[in-house]
Amino acid sequence: SREEEAIKLDGLSVAQMKELRDKAEKHVFQAEVDRMMKLIINSLYKNKEIFLRELISNASDALDKIRFVDKDANSLTVCDTGIGMTKNDLVNNLGTIAKSGTSDFLTKLGDAQDQQEMSDLIGQFGVGFYSTFLVADRVVVSSKHNDDEQYLWESDASSFSVVKDPRDETMPRGTCVTLFMKEEAQEFLEQEKIKELVKKYSQFINFDIYLWNSSIEKVEE
Ligand code: ADP
Ligand code: MG
Repeated sequence: SREEEAIKLDGLSVAQMKELRDKAEKHVFQAEVDRMMKLIINSLYKNKEIFLRELISNASDALDKIRFVDKDANSLTVCDTGIGMTKNDLVNNLGTIAKSGTSDFLTKLGDAQDQQEMSDLIGQFGVGFYSTFLVADRVVVSSKHNDDEQYLWESDASSFSVVKDPRDETMPRGTCVTLFMKEEAQEFLEQEKIKELVKKYSQFINFDIYLWNSSIEKVEE
């Protein structure tokens, strides 16, 4: 079914995904994360594209080289060969908010005059990753850090789970974030749209960015 095919990861069958989900360790988001996510989704629905700015920025923070894989019709994957995250990092970095100041964020968000100001606040408050839920109804992160094995983090925005990635060592080190796009965000799967946004949001990124679909293409700076 579309539903099942829609959440398939490269190299894993639908049945394997189901099995993994059953044995995955389940977590709830820190209450603050829950609040932040709802805020982001409700305040920035007109400016969904900033999710890509945030993913590029995280990959760049992590990184050596960034690439986009969008060969699957329903998902967009952003990979980097950066520092990666251990299992504990995945739980801590993508389940809690490190920087304090949720109420400050709330006040500033309320005061923000336009979408630009709101989207800038997301970067400032260190909650950029959660902007992926503006366009995706399910997000899967696969990550390999030198100090740990490769792990999968998965969330539908209400809770998240972590489990060892059975594909193991598909990358020597780094992170791949796969977004399973909402019906209304299909435009972000179009090659031309992605290219345009990557150019827009990678002006100050000092790394090469590659787009992979059936052929590999380097995005001109
Ligand atoms: P910020 O980037 O401002 O810290 P984010 O919400 O964008 O806030 O990301 C939260 C944290 O998740 C980051 O600080 C980092 O530790 C971790 N993280 C996110 N993406 C990656 C990535 N591609 N590689 C390594 N760590 C990442
Ligand atoms: Mg970030």
